[in-house]
Amino acid sequence: MKDMTRRSFIATSSAAAAMMLAACGGSKSSDNSEAPAVEAADGEYTLVEAGKLTCISNLYFPPFESMDEKTGEPVGFDIDMSKSLAEHLGLEANWLASQAFDSLVPTIKAGGTADVAIAGMTITDARKAEVDMSDPYVDSNQSLVTKVGSEETLDSLNAAEKKIAVQAGTTGADWAAENLPDATIVPLDDIISAMNGVLTGSYDGLVTDLPVSSYQIKNSFTELQIIEEIPTGEQYGIAISKDNPGLTAAINQALADMADDGSMAEIQVKWFGAEL
Ligand code: GLN
Repeated sequence: MKDMTRRSFIATSSAAAAMMLAACGGSKSSDNSEAPAVEAADGEYTLVEAGKLTCISNLYFPPFESMDEKTGEPVGFDIDMSKSLAEHLGLEANWLASQAFDSLVPTIKAGGTADVAIAGMTITDARKAEVDMSDPYVDSNQSLVTKVGSEETLDSLNAAEKKIAVQAGTTGADWAAENLPDATIVPLDDIISAMNGVLTGSYDGLVTDLPVSSYQIKNSFTELQIIEEIPTGEQYGIAISKDNPGLTAAINQALADMADDGSMAEIQVKWFGAEL
């Protein structure tokens, strides 16, 4: 966080004030890594790059985020939401390269790389101890998935010789550890590898968020099936550094505005065919 003064600027409603503040921040900052972080006043926030909402995610979690095979650009519900969010803040969304899901919270906490992690990320107490989480924007549950034709059940999968793939550091991984305590849980980098592994027989099942398994089974992994829908009652939020409370407030306001002006509903219909 210490070097944020060099890379961040202060967002304000007035360009002139922003310039003055940026100049002021510039005079305070130097290569001295001991320089104090810029204190943002009410309604102000810092950004790692001026004019941009810099976003990180794990881009293997469709339909929330994935990489368009043709363009290599990130696409998905969270990407569209970030664009609208940025627009409501007078910014432009800028997505960095995909990173491991379990590195997202530490990256936001460390500061300096990205302003937000938007990753279908469940709001949990453990995460809230590390970073701020925005107000919720999507409800979610878990699901247990096997290959079509498999006779496995929740009970039969709870055995040492059964391999259950999960995405490392996720609430699905936590659920599997708790509810399939005798199974062999295999943490993977992403859920697409888990789905491929269940298809090829490397794993007997996988646990992941229900909106993701439903979407994938409908659109690409038609030979997988959901054998349990698990009502965990999760809610997704955006992760923001605790050093940037002005940004959390601004994002919560923008989310509320998006609910009011219909932009959130439009994105829900685009990706899920209906308002959620
Ligand atoms: N919602 C789950 C979690 O927060 C999974 C998120 C993901 O894999 N991108 O842990």
